[in-house]
Amino acid sequence: MGSTPLQVMDFDTALKIVLEHARGLKPLSTERVGLSDSRARVLAQEVRADRDQPAFNRSTRDGFAVRASELSAGTLHVAGQVRAGQNWPGGEIADRACVEIMTGAPVPEGFDAVVMVEHVELKQVERGETSITLSAGRSLKPGENVVPRGAEARNGDLVLGAGTPMGAAEIALAASCGYVDVEVFVQPKVAIVATGDELVDVGVEPQEGQIRNSNGYALKAMVEEAGGFGGRLEIARDLREEVRERVAQGRMWNLIVFSGGVSMGEYDLVEEVLAEYGAEFFFTGVKMQPGKPVVFGRLPERTSGSGAGPECYFFGLPGNPISTQVTFHCFVEPFLRAMGGGGLSGPRFVQATLSEDAEGKAGLTRILPARLTYDRIRPEVRVVGWQGSGDLAANARANCYAVLPDGVERFIAGDVITVLLR
Ligand code: AMP
Ligand code: MG
Repeated sequence: MGSTPLQVMDFDTALKIVLEHARGLKPLSTERVGLSDSRARVLAQEVRADRDQPAFNRSTRDGFAVRASELSAGTLHVAGQVRAGQNWPGGEIADRACVEIMTGAPVPEGFDAVVMVEHVELKQVERGETSITLSAGRSLKPGENVVPRGAEARNGDLVLGAGTPMGAAEIALAASCGYVDVEVFVQPKVAIVATGDELVDVGVEPQEGQIRNSNGYALKAMVEEAGGFGGRLEIARDLREEVRERVAQGRMWNLIVFSGGVSMGEYDLVEEVLAEYGAEFFFTGVKMQPGKPVVFGRLPERTSGSGAGPECYFFGLPGNPISTQVTFHCFVEPFLRAMGGGGLSGPRFVQATLSEDAEGKAGLTRILPARLTYDRIRPEVRVVGWQGSGDLAANARANCYAVLPDGVERFIAGDVITVLLR
């Protein structure tokens, strides 16, 4: 039993507490990376358009640049062609004339619309020249099929703010504005500490009763997905001295995430050792299943003695692998995203329709491995069969978690429920 008082919260309160602390985090330092290396990093600068976008009135179709009123009134003579990457050589274009134009090409001065090639009748006239008329039933209004210069962004406009996570869409936009490299936040360094006498490293043959430290790997993968840098410290046996040592090492990083050692057993030492270091605990349990013993707190700055170091937040996650993963997604992931400069947002919840009945539990929010079908019209989710919170095989057959809130005993096929993405 830990020496810290039990502070068991309901799920929403616990999440609120985590987000409140996330809001108060000081920004980390920044570094410059090549644009192609900025994927999954968080922008620490503004990105601004370096010219109007588009930089000219751009045709969105293959067809003919025209004056809409003239085409509506009759036949137009084709006076030339302009391709993407070219500019109309200039010069006034006569009345009742048009210019053949390709998608992405600049619409010559004086024209106000582009008619699609599929919407006109082409006629060969004398000396190999061509004329066009609108096909029957077609019409054309001024502005059609033309994106005016600067309509997407004006020169100097802010197009990406600091705090934006960089994905393909953001990288493409920065590239279009001429950014060869960008300033991003340094990734938070997360010390991953697996505790337990039963654990061996993944490359070691487990003896009777031993298990492999799969959580170390799961946590590193999840930390990296959430924009952090994860480092596995050596496994800590359930010995005070070893846990103390890992705390002393881990607190030099930005965040410590423990797996195991936070339940009520005699050998669950993580909270006790953290308390020795003067830790504040914001909660020491959450009414959820799996994941009930999850702990969140902070080590105060210590200037001297063993375990000296800066202020450092920590999470203690229960050791059962599915408990570890669920509590990570619910609490550590939003915290880490905020720590990495990505702003405040909760876990990634969406809604889907249950395709099979599911059991809730009085007094607990259940967050169970589930399978979501990404259907365009009606995404459906069902809880997968499992042997409890150690069942990694079932968890890998799932692709999300079904959230079954406290207070409802039975969820019925057809109910719309919350799904936690992972
Ligand atoms: P604990 O939370 O320390 O009581 O651990 C609960 C159970 O989780 C243990 O009995 C192990 O079966 C499992 N477990 C603990 N740590 C790990 C780990 N690092 N990797 C995989 N399973 C673990
Ligand atoms: Mg343990």
